[in-house]
Amino acid sequence: MLQAMNPWFAKAAILLGSVAMVVIRAPHGQRSRAIPVVKSRKGRLEVILLTLAWLGFFVPLIWIATPIFAFADYPLRPVPFIAGTLFLPLGLWLFYRSHADLGTNWSITLEVRDGHQLVTQGMYRHVRHPMYMALLLYSLGQALVLPNWVAGPCYGVAVGLLFAFRVNPEERMMLEEFGKDYEAYSRRTSRLVPGVW
Ligand code: SAH
Repeated sequence: MLQAMNPWFAKAAILLGSVAMVVIRAPHGQRSRAIPVVKSRKGRLEVILLTLAWLGFFVPLIWIATPIFAFADYPLRPVPFIAGTLFLPLGLWLFYRSHADLGTNWSITLEVRDGHQLVTQGMYRHVRHPMYMALLLYSLGQALVLPNWVAGPCYGVAVGLLFAFRVNPEERMMLEEFGKDYEAYSRRTSRLVPGVW
């Protein structure tokens, strides 16, 4: 077994990653808020999933700042740490790219905005959910980097649930909105991994 590392390496990686997520998203949130919503599918399930996602995002920061989750700590080892620090920037890069491609068509929840365009280029050329893929990659990185059984996997669990329960309603909404265009787009693309699924 390789020697245990100082947990501050994990804390620094998580802090940097979390700040990067917020910095990447903030301008898009601000811009799309200015555009009226013409259709919303924000039901009770969406509210629950979004709340879980927020909690999942904040728990690692609470782990950094307080000893509340110390009961579930384990030693930080170099191999998972290094693997995690590869997934974190990969997820962040894909997050950045898919936000740039979606532009003002992005919403935090299931919504169609005024003048909504179906995006089929850039990261959306081969997969329909690159942003969810980005969050899954990022949260996998976090689970590997963060040496705590609760705080490590919690964002991944939240993002996994969000994806599992949202992907069908989202595709239904897009199909209703864009009809044949979305049907054709779905036929030539995969959901998460090009050519696989
Ligand atoms: N599922 C996508 C987008 C996540 S954001 C991804 O993972 O990359 C969710 C919102 O984006 C949805 O409510 C919908 O309004 C919008 N959206 C999803 N796919 C889109 C597309 N191909 N073109 C335009 N808007 C899209």
